[in-house]
Amino acid sequence: MSRPSLAPIAANLPQTVPFVGPETIERRTGQPFRARLGANESPFGAAPSAQAAMALALKTIWKYGDAESHYLRLALARHHQIESDEIVVGEGIDGLLGLAVRLYAAPGTTVVTSQGAYPTLNYHAVGFGARVVAVPYRDNHEDLATLASTVQREKAAIVYLANPDNPMGSWHSAAAVEQFVDAVPQTTLILLDEAYGEFAPKGTLPPLDTRRPNVLRLRTFSKAYGMAGLRCGYAIGERQTIGAFERVRNHFGVNTIAQAGALAAIADTGHLAQVLALTAAARSRIADIALANGLSPLPSATNFVTIDCGGDAHHAGSLLAALAAQRIFIRKPMAPGLDHCIRISVGTTAELDLLASALPLAITAVGQPPRAG
Ligand SMILES: *Cc1c(COP(=O)(O)O)cnc(C)c1O
Repeated sequence: MSRPSLAPIAANLPQTVPFVGPETIERRTGQPFRARLGANESPFGAAPSAQAAMALALKTIWKYGDAESHYLRLALARHHQIESDEIVVGEGIDGLLGLAVRLYAAPGTTVVTSQGAYPTLNYHAVGFGARVVAVPYRDNHEDLATLASTVQREKAAIVYLANPDNPMGSWHSAAAVEQFVDAVPQTTLILLDEAYGEFAPKGTLPPLDTRRPNVLRLRTFSKAYGMAGLRCGYAIGERQTIGAFERVRNHFGVNTIAQAGALAAIADTGHLAQVLALTAAARSRIADIALANGLSPLPSATNFVTIDCGGDAHHAGSLLAALAAQRIFIRKPMAPGLDHCIRISVGTTAELDLLASALPLAITAVGQPPRAG
């Protein structure tokens, strides 16, 4: 039988998605996880005020939502002291990354990122026919100087930087980021992913400057706001750069419930403050658990702690598997130079108690690490 042929770009793509979800692993093994510490979610949940607003939004769910996310954009504009036409709302940062790549990286052009950085950017870049050039991390940080020089050498269409970073949890100062922005040609779009911005110490996020046509700042309700399942994020940028999203975005993609939940969440500063405090406490508990087991936690400006396990990639992978065997879900960086680490997201006290008792057993099962090469 014949069948429709795939379009050329799609024909050359692997049939994979950037992440294997914990639900997929649970279905494969037939075993639910006891602790969900791998997806950098907020176990502290969405604000009760946001949950109530979302429940109320169900009453009008028969209507198409507001395709302009008008009131959410107004509230975000007020929150950030910018104009609402300097904001586009989308289906999480993941969705906005896809649109940005489609808009600004033509097939055959180059997208520069860090080797082992957030994989969804690469997924979209390859999906729209661009070429990915990845710069290794330096001392567990994205290497700003080499990223900038690679952009120049490759005449890149887009460069991606997450600050704070996933998967290492490291961060650069606002001054260093501003210097990086100055070093990148005005013709290259800078995607500055600030998914963890709320967790970062003061002086990490540069002040918002919406005059630069080549900078997009990406924010999300998935992490500190505790609504990863909602699929709502936004980009901030110069008016015309933001306006370009009107050419390609999925107009009803940000649904009524997402708009209502995000609108309530942005107003609930009390809940956010509480989550930030709980996250900081959970982060130091994870670091203490790591230290008590002879492992080295790295400093983190996020809602997870990346831990140097003192061995090689195989050793770190075995530790991850030994935790999974005890039904503890974590993840690990995969790129060379980072892959001797594991990454543990903040959890509830009960989940971190489970981690504290499972980790020594995992270490015993795996044995002493061989020296990292
Ligand atoms: C979690 C994460 C995202 C995902 O954001 P969504 O709004 O849920 O799509 C984006 N970037 C980084 C670096 C992340 O870690």
